[in-house]
Amino acid sequence: MRKPIIAANWKMYKTFDEAVEFVEAIKDRIPSENKVDAVVCAPALYLPTLVEIAKETDLAIGAQNMHYEEEGAFTGEISPKQLEAIQVDYVILGHSERREYFNETDEAVNKKVKAALAHGIVPIVCCGETLEEREAGLTEKKVTNQVKKALADLSPEEVQHIVIAYEPIWAIGTGKTATADDANAVCGHIRQGIEELFGKDVAENIRIQYGGSVKPENIEELLSKEHIDGALVGGASLQVESYLKLLEAG
Ligand code: PEP
Repeated sequence: MRKPIIAANWKMYKTFDEAVEFVEAIKDRIPSENKVDAVVCAPALYLPTLVEIAKETDLAIGAQNMHYEEEGAFTGEISPKQLEAIQVDYVILGHSERREYFNETDEAVNKKVKAALAHGIVPIVCCGETLEEREAGLTEKKVTNQVKKALADLSPEEVQHIVIAYEPIWAIGTGKTATADDANAVCGHIRQGIEELFGKDVAENIRIQYGGSVKPENIEELLSKEHIDGALVGGASLQVESYLKLLEAG
């Protein structure tokens, strides 16, 4: 049985005060009985404070990106060693916005995945197709290729700690959601690819989220599907009550 993971991706939203207020409001309201893993991926400059506030609660805090080097002359970047030192639990890697606006390549994502694992941080590795690729029937090829490259040279032991987020690019922030059946089919395909590369046990254990205009109204149907083990959520994760509703569906 895979435990669902609902991760908020706040992107470049919220002031410091708003971020603190949000985490204070939800930290003791995470559904009990260990039903769901709740993660908030916040802007980097709030992370130490949010980790402190969420300490000893069921809420985990994540980053939205990081560099793959431990340290060095990389102005403006944040390293895995720095995230580990402040006890960040998760990091989103290879989000389509980073690939599109910051030229992040599959090779860089692979280096970041390795670096995150080496520092005990769980990578949430994003993949997904554009609308043109979907219409050309290239969805499965695109996501399989991205996942294969992101996980290159890793051992099955390492891979089972990773979370994959399948996020069709045309569904992110657009209000358009893939149908639950379509999302499930692609997540199933990703799982199949992982089985071929890393074996059945890893494929059965690894968690695959869906992301793309997930909201309280559609999350239950998405989570009812065999291969969808949670959600990576942008817009609907910005309000306390909406994020809590997503967690309750988990
Ligand atoms: C995202 O940012 O990863 C995302 C899926 O955004 P939204 O939920 O707003 O589509």
